[in-house]
Order: sequence, then structure tokens, then C-alpha cells
Amino acid sequence: MTPPASRFAFTQRQSASNKTPRQINRNLVFNLIRTRQPISRADLARVSGLQRSTVSLIVEDLIRDKWILEGSIGRLPRGRRPTFLELNHHRAVVAVDIHPSQTTVAVTDLGGRIVAQNLVLLPVEPAKAIPAIIAGVRKLITANEDKTFVGIGISLPGRTDLGLQKLIFAPNLNWPVLSIKPRIERATGLRVEMDNAANACALSEVWFGDSDGNHDLVVVNVSEGIGSGIFANGRLLRGENGMAGEFGHIQIDANGPLCGCGNRGCWETVASNRAALRYFQEGGGSASVQTMEALIKLAQAGEEHAVKALETMSVYLGRGLRMIASALAPREIIVVGDITSAWYRFGPLVEAEFKVNSLSKGPRLRPSLDGNTARLRSAVALVMNEGSI
Ligand SMILES: [Zn+2]
Repeated sequence: MTPPASRFAFTQRQSASNKTPRQINRNLVFNLIRTRQPISRADLARVSGLQRSTVSLIVEDLIRDKWILEGSIGRLPRGRRPTFLELNHHRAVVAVDIHPSQTTVAVTDLGGRIVAQNLVLLPVEPAKAIPAIIAGVRKLITANEDKTFVGIGISLPGRTDLGLQKLIFAPNLNWPVLSIKPRIERATGLRVEMDNAANACALSEVWFGDSDGNHDLVVVNVSEGIGSGIFANGRLLRGENGMAGEFGHIQIDANGPLCGCGNRGCWETVASNRAALRYFQEGGGSASVQTMEALIKLAQAGEEHAVKALETMSVYLGRGLRMIASALAPREIIVVGDITSAWYRFGPLVEAEFKVNSLSKGPRLRPSLDGNTARLRSAVALVMNEGSI
């Protein structure tokens, strides 16, 4: 078994991370408490490999910040009776997952477990989108007033420039999102962290997931468009202006459909949810099917137009993933998005196309374990992860 201390890349590649050793150790200890609670200080020191005194200092820190609590007292055959540590279940995070036409707002505990969630349908008028999201966040905070909130995480379908904290590239959004962070901060008085959904999901795989964090991984977020988040050499690869990983806008077909970015035939125009819906309509499917969820349900019931549409999407998905494998050679590629709910049916097609003519064994390809909640959990990871990686 891999020792748990190696779950987080920052423990072993400190030089590649922007985190201080203290932040790295704090993350490590917190996550050990999250996954193994209730746990004693002595056991924390044993499984983390950290000095007992270091563990004690971090634990005092976490107790002072009210992230964790001292709970029950353990019993040992002899000697001191240890106090067990556990997450503070009165503390919560607001997770906001923004899509072009709708936004999901959720309250989660510090372990990323969803306590409550609401869907906010965004008004057609662009100027009303941010007020609608703020109203949704406030409503959920009021409904959970027994909780104390640590902060708000926002996952966006576009690129953010971390220095300026503004959205610089979001071809699928038609409303102004530049001011969303300060406006939500003002409206709630809470700390707000935001990043693009694919980066947030990559961080979440390292923070919450079963990835051990020691290897390079790419998260591919398949939604209205396609975004990817790259975790390499122990940190997120952001690129100049935060533009790394825009595989969704690499041209696959010069004569393909017009993309939101202005080019034709980008990968996302042939392999995204929108593409699947387009294949379905073009193939003679019912015009009443407007969402990916409905299309997947129909395919699962065996409707042939729906099956065909998702098969076509799956082949293009696999083809683009092959390009990522060749470009970056990560150990793992993780797919996030609605298609993962039908992975048992369409995953093999994606995988077959992914492996065509591959030079080596290639990365492991898998759907996110969180399925449809991956993007919400990723917003929680943005708040819980202290310091950028
Ligand atoms: Zn494009």
C-alpha cells in the first residue's frame, strides 16, 4: 500500500510548488484527518511521517481556525488516553458551478460532502445573470444559517487570469463575469476563490480524489465546451496569461462547424455536449430533446438516434484525448462531465479511439469518480486548498 503521506505532490516536490512547507504540511494533516477521522495526534504523526511536535502545532492551528474539533476520548490498554480529532461539521463552504445558461449553488461540509444544492436558471438578459447568482447564494446561506462559512468557491467555464482575477476567455458566456468575484464578496462578506472548471477539477483530483498527486494528470471537462486542466511536476500548469490547456480550441476539421472562438471545427465543436445534441438533431432526433441529460437518458433507453449521436461524440472525444496523450504524456487522463454517467456504455468507444495507433501503453483513461458532482467538489477544493499550486 502507498503510504498516505505521498498522496500530495507538494510533500515531495516542494521546489515545484508555490506553497510554503508549512502550507504543504497543513494540507497533508487536514486531509489525513478528513479521510481517517476520528484520528489521534499520535496516529497522525505515524501516518504522515511528520514530527509529533509539527503535527501538534498544525492541529492547534486547525482547531483555532475551527476547521477541526477535538472529539471523543480514546481508550488504550495503558498510558495516556488520546483525544480524537475530526472535521468541524458546523463549518461549510459554498460551491458555485457556473454554466452558460444555468448555475448550481451548493453548500458542502469541509470534506466536500454536499449538504444542500439549488439550480439557478440564468436570465436571458446578461445584466441579470450575476444578481441571479448572488440571490441564489444568499438564499442557500440563509437556509443553512446553523453553519459558519469558510468561503465561496466558483468554478467558471472560461480562463481566469489569476493576477487580475478576471475572466479573459470564455467564448461560451455572453454575460459579463469580470466583476463576479468582488460582487459576491461584497454581497456575502465571505472570501471568494475562483478558477476555470478544468483547473479546479485537476486540483480537486489531487485534493479530494484517489490520484496520489505524485504523477502528472490532465482533467478534461466535457460540457457545453471542452476545457482541460493540467497538473504537471506537482503544480497546475497555467501557461502565459493562464491559457495553457485550450485543447478544446485546436482545429480538428477545417470545414467543421463555427466555434464560439471564431474558428471552425475546433475539438469542442465535434466532441462536446453541444456537438452530441447537434448530431442528434441532424440525424432526425426529436426537437424536444434540448439537454445532454435528456439525450443520455434516451440513449440508455435504447433510442437509436440518441445512441448514434453519443457514439459519434465518443469517437471524436477519444481522438482529441489521443492528442493530449501525445502532447503531454501524463500518467492519467480523467474525464469530467455528463458523459461519465453513461461511461459504461460509451467509455469503451472513447477508449478504443483513444488507443488507435498509440505508440506506447499511454495514460490511464478514466471517468471522474465524482460523476456529475465533480465540478461542485472542485469549487470546494478551491476554497480548502490554501496557497496556489
Ligand atoms: Zn474554438
